[in-house]
Amino acid sequence: MRFARYEAHGEIAYGVVKGSTVKQLTTTPFEDYEVTDHEHGLDEVRLLAPCTPSKIVAIGLNYASHLGGREAPKVPEPFLKTPSSIINPGDTIVIPREAAEVQEEGELTVVIGKRCRGAARADALSYVLGYTCGNDVSARQWQRGDLQWWRAKSSDTFAPFGPFIVTDLDPGDLHLQARTNGKVVQDSSTSDLIHDVPSIIEFVSRVMTLLPGDVIMTGTPGQPGYLEPGDTVEIEIEGIGVLSNPVASE
Ligand code: MG
Repeated sequence: MRFARYEAHGEIAYGVVKGSTVKQLTTTPFEDYEVTDHEHGLDEVRLLAPCTPSKIVAIGLNYASHLGGREAPKVPEPFLKTPSSIINPGDTIVIPREAAEVQEEGELTVVIGKRCRGAARADALSYVLGYTCGNDVSARQWQRGDLQWWRAKSSDTFAPFGPFIVTDLDPGDLHLQARTNGKVVQDSSTSDLIHDVPSIIEFVSRVMTLLPGDVIMTGTPGQPGYLEPGDTVEIEIEGIGVLSNPVASE
């Protein structure tokens, strides 16, 4: 199943995508919904970030290829991104005036489907609705220099995700690519995750309740590139699609 959140004729709705059309749901995919006969062409709607999380949990240092000589963490290394940093597919990533060395981070992004506290690894995936593409946009100078990553990771526009939530994928074996202006910058598989999705959910939900619609960005592989005004950055994950965002300066 492929869920979208979209705006059509000034109204926001969730829908199920089949081919090039989307059929509206009676409510959100996190509740008991029915699929209505109300249908749009995907080209007639504006796709939005596919859910509205109470929080974004992001995992640092989760691919060996991204460690750059640092030791692999023994447990997942979560941090938080704010909901106010979310933008929609196609929206512009705006580099703040004082930020330097801004990079994309293409990441498999988990969407939690039901309230989750104290999940065991064995049943952790039963709390997942599906998966989407995320871009954990990062300002490296702030990331190095500040005590907290509040602006390095949560400046406005620093959390694009979408375009769809796709169910029934194996999160442990998906091809992931980040491209800037069509040039491949990151190219990996989620089979290279150090801490896999069940481990992350178990570790985080031990102390923090995950709510329906919450989002986990699982970490980024390789060496991201620098984003410049005028660029277009794309994150593509096998079976999900392409998240594309232009870049501008403030
Ligand atoms: Mg990241």
